[in-house]
Amino acid sequence: MPRRELRCLRQRTGTTLAYGESVSDFSPAAGLAPWQRTAAGAGLLAADGSIAPTIFAEMSALAMRTGAINLGQGFPDEDGPAEVLEAARQAIADGVNQYPPGPGMPVLREAIAAHQRRWYGIELDAASEVLVTAGATEALAATLLAFVDTGDEVVTFEPYYDAYAAIIARAGGVHRTVPLHWTREPRAGEPGAGSSAGWRPDHDELRAAVTDRTRVILVNSPHNPTGAVLDTETLALIVELADRHDALIVTDEVYEHLVFGAAHTPIATLPGARERTISISSGGKTFSTTGWKVGWITAPAPLVTAVLAVKQYLTYVNGAPFQPAIATGLGLPDAFFTDAAATLAAKRDLLAAGLETAGFALSLPRAGYFVIADAAPLGFADGAELCRALPGLAGVVGVPVTAFVHPDRQGDYASLVRFAFCKRHEVLEEASARLARLSAG
Ligand code: PMP
Ligand code: GLN
Repeated sequence: MPRRELRCLRQRTGTTLAYGESVSDFSPAAGLAPWQRTAAGAGLLAADGSIAPTIFAEMSALAMRTGAINLGQGFPDEDGPAEVLEAARQAIADGVNQYPPGPGMPVLREAIAAHQRRWYGIELDAASEVLVTAGATEALAATLLAFVDTGDEVVTFEPYYDAYAAIIARAGGVHRTVPLHWTREPRAGEPGAGSSAGWRPDHDELRAAVTDRTRVILVNSPHNPTGAVLDTETLALIVELADRHDALIVTDEVYEHLVFGAAHTPIATLPGARERTISISSGGKTFSTTGWKVGWITAPAPLVTAVLAVKQYLTYVNGAPFQPAIATGLGLPDAFFTDAAATLAAKRDLLAAGLETAGFALSLPRAGYFVIADAAPLGFADGAELCRALPGLAGVVGVPVTAFVHPDRQGDYASLVRFAFCKRHEVLEEASARLARLSAG
């Protein structure tokens, strides 16, 4: 049966496929159903039509199954501040258990506005310029679905957080990427030691990617998976290009407080950025509450209205008792935020030292939860294969960086593995000792 007809039949009969079930006559060359396009966007649709789980789900399941230390999916293994947890318990006890208002509870919207003022000097009207969402994920989805039409281009850096590609594809957009180039850290004593290693875009490549077809430039700084923090010249160029081509800037800043060194600069604070920027963040990383899924956008009122128009039919609302709890978190003294970053920086150093001793090549991330390590010096050319074998080889789980790049470009990232260091010291020490087996064997 021709594929289009098959699709129509499925739509008519309401036949659905189970997770992971394959469609025998499916071919990616055929027109895809919207859900298939979504999976294909993130590289999760196989040639036989089967749908893979996300790399995070797959690797967490592998860790559970094998008992390996899970340095794959990015979630802390310790609870966040006691005041925040207690505020959620209190809210439940106080009966804050029904639908909150569509744009979010006033106490949280006020706290988000106060946070933006305190840390970045951004003045916001909490009633019209702040919207609470079900995590940064819903904020991203609602924003892209609100603005990206069929054929519109969305520019992101590459590697990119997997959800971007999936949502762009679902919206019918065209995903254009600008590579972040990796300069390796020279080892101590080598020429160039102490110089600026890390992941950076080439400005000419960025200029070439943004055109009048660009609807959105989707920025993620601090960046997952590389831990890069875009410098102000790059941020300024993004604003200039967005202005020249009348594109929106959507900025995912969920790691805003987990920066090791110079403070985070929200792109919305740059001259000319504010009126075309939708800023996204979340309480998950800052307060070690990734399971609560309380996120938000801040933007000029007309943009918030547009995103709300979509958001209110995705989840409508979420997490009533968690909203005042995250408000409590946002109001914690400065020391909480700086201590959280310092604690995480020490964990980064611990795991980085362990990975280097084990024989991986890496450069220190400047922010976030993750370090990218090159397994090539250890003789592993295929990071995805290594990640599947790693529980057996070393009792550790990581995530291949190929999960964050377009299938056509996976060759450029083949030997790279992302490891999460948002774990307890003893866990990172144990993981380091286990990884050392790779070079010993
Ligand atoms: N953006 C980035 C860059 C992330 O790493 C993540 C995952 N933690 C998210 C968005 C999703 O955030 P949330 O859990 O708040 O939906
Ligand atoms: N953001 C987390 C990571 O990068 C994963 C979230 C998820 O599982 N979707 O590991």
